[in-house]
Amino acid sequence: MKATMMYGAGDVRIEKVPDVRIIERTDALISITRACICGSDLWPYQKMEHNDAGRSMGHELIGVVEAVGADVRKVKIGDLVVAPFAFSDGTCVFCRAGLHTSCLHGGFFGMNDVGGAQAEAVRVPQADGTLVVLPVGKDDQLMPSLLTLSDVMGTGHHAAVSAKVGPGKTAAVVGDGAVGLCGVIAARRLGAEQIIMLGRHPDRIALARKFGATDIVSERGDEAIEHVRKLTHGLGVDSALECVGLEQSTLTALRIVRPGGAVGRVGVPQEASIPAAQPTFYSNVTIAGGPAPVRSYIEDLLPDVLEGKIEPGRVFDQVTNIDGVPDGYRAMDERNAIKVMIKF
Ligand SMILES: [Zn+2]
Repeated sequence: MKATMMYGAGDVRIEKVPDVRIIERTDALISITRACICGSDLWPYQKMEHNDAGRSMGHELIGVVEAVGADVRKVKIGDLVVAPFAFSDGTCVFCRAGLHTSCLHGGFFGMNDVGGAQAEAVRVPQADGTLVVLPVGKDDQLMPSLLTLSDVMGTGHHAAVSAKVGPGKTAAVVGDGAVGLCGVIAARRLGAEQIIMLGRHPDRIALARKFGATDIVSERGDEAIEHVRKLTHGLGVDSALECVGLEQSTLTALRIVRPGGAVGRVGVPQEASIPAAQPTFYSNVTIAGGPAPVRSYIEDLLPDVLEGKIEPGRVFDQVTNIDGVPDGYRAMDERNAIKVMIKF
């Protein structure tokens, strides 16, 4: 089967790899129908040191169940399923608390002996806890939005939940990538009255406005912070959604939040420490977030997607096939695409 391998910064190749097979009794094999390239895939694309063994890429997928292990009960051959970017058993102490990314028997696609999802097929461990059956056909027009439930919509939602967005509150989203744009959808869905998008790319700003952003701040650094303060009567926002992970974006999120407010961080941190320790301490700011427990959010968000109440699939502005994946990485890295869908 064909799969996407990364050998170092800028070096993505489509290769023939051994077909996946059932290893554990709790596995399912999925023939992938839709996958995509994630903003977090761009970190290794920019920085990874050359590695002869390569790294299997991709962690967002929808597909058809082709085979199941002897202990799998909830999904069956032929089901169309969506998988979150982390697999989980759904039964351990952390899963029961809704924190599936800390599952005691969980893990991530594209790591250890579990392949990545930018491939024709994937082995899904803990199939019963991980997979959610979709009540539509595999070419349904809702596919783009359903695919975002594997990561970016759930991650944007996690930023909003961690930042304690609620009815009547003011929120700001730092980062105009797919996750930030989904953060706008999530903030609106949770009732935020004012949603400030910090971003500067015209196509992304236009989409943010369609998703519910009420104000746009295109400056950076001190000027951005000043502009957000002006928009909030000098107070700052109740909720800041950090959807990038760089020091500058984190600092901006921490400095635009008002005393007693909350910052939800979902951008993978690229620095070892969090800036602004003292001002956030003296302002009683809550700093929360982490890898989104997307599996626990799918059931919440799926009905809204099926009913067309939210359309996160609009973040996909390019579609390719497996052979076009290296070009897809390039397009996203050069910011010529917001998010690239892979159709099989
Ligand atoms: Zn668990």
